[in-house]
Amino acid sequence: MANEQVKLLIIGSGPAGYTAAIYASRANLSPVLIEGLQVGGQLTTTTDIENFPGYPNGISGAEMMEDLRRQAERFGTEMRFGMVTSVDFSGDKKLVTVDGDKLIEAEAVIVATGATAKYLGLPSEAKFRGSGVSACATCDGFFYRKKDVAVVGGGDTACEEATYLAHLCNKVYLIVRKDALRASKAMQQRVFNTPNIEVLFEHNTLELTGTDVVEGARLVFRQGTADEQIRDIKIDGFFLAIGHKPNSDVFAKYLDTDDAGYIKTIAGTSKTNVTGVFACGDVQDPRYRQAITAAGSGCKAALDAEQYILSRND
Ligand code: NDP
Repeated sequence: MANEQVKLLIIGSGPAGYTAAIYASRANLSPVLIEGLQVGGQLTTTTDIENFPGYPNGISGAEMMEDLRRQAERFGTEMRFGMVTSVDFSGDKKLVTVDGDKLIEAEAVIVATGATAKYLGLPSEAKFRGSGVSACATCDGFFYRKKDVAVVGGGDTACEEATYLAHLCNKVYLIVRKDALRASKAMQQRVFNTPNIEVLFEHNTLELTGTDVVEGARLVFRQGTADEQIRDIKIDGFFLAIGHKPNSDVFAKYLDTDDAGYIKTIAGTSKTNVTGVFACGDVQDPRYRQAITAAGSGCKAALDAEQYILSRND
């Protein structure tokens, strides 16, 4: 059987992928969008989104993604459930295999596969996901105004999230596994100069406690040493800031990435090192990681792909 031929294949169904699809379908590129296993992406796991322009009363992540999906469908994007299992970007036609057996040949590909926040892997963390456990202070911090919260991590993200939360919350514990922060000196100073942040060096989290929502955390100081001590803290929110993993493994053979796996794009564009392959959203953005910046970069990727496809057919 002949391989399916498409003009534009979009991989990923977060705000970047759907926005690329809206633009591309309105430009008559008849895009096919592979949605992955978590349709709608990371935002479907958050609670309300209140910082996306145009929603004065906020909207749930799941609802917003459904709106974006329907908007893309309205202009003719074809949605497919499935996972991209391998790619071959060596030739002029880009070959993409879905679910191990469906081969698609595309003139251009937009990669919008996002990133996955890392979690500690505690059973209680999974239990309270969305009920006190979050991996995004900018998204969910507002719901913890005047409350006590904890942030885990010692990098720039953790420090940034801790200082952001300190403006909203009564108290912020910063739980750091080592005896020093990894964050830049400027960011560290900001943390140390904020009176309602208490840094707990050499602490690890053993469990989160609570009935329906997070009510506290059981920590251990200097685990496995003679100084080991258990400490219980009362908190309403538990924020993970221990890094993200960009979902770029399947493209690693062809696309240039940085050391952490984020796809490199040519500054100011969505172009990757492979002509005809574009990247947008969190898979190429270690820094901003917001729904609105992902959507904006999805728009850019669609415009870049459109220009590329038109220039091929001239
Ligand atoms: P990083 O990888 O820099 O830091 C992750 C932090 O999480 C480290 O302190 C690490 O500890 C800790 N950690 C990892 N796994 C665990 C675990 N299982 N238990 C407890 N702690 C853990 O990630 P970031 O997201 O902070 O930053 C990513 C990149 O983005 C960096 O290059 C950063 O500089 C950049 N960035 C820049 C910003 C800015 O300039 N404004 C803002 C945000 C990010 P340990 O130190 O012990 O390894």
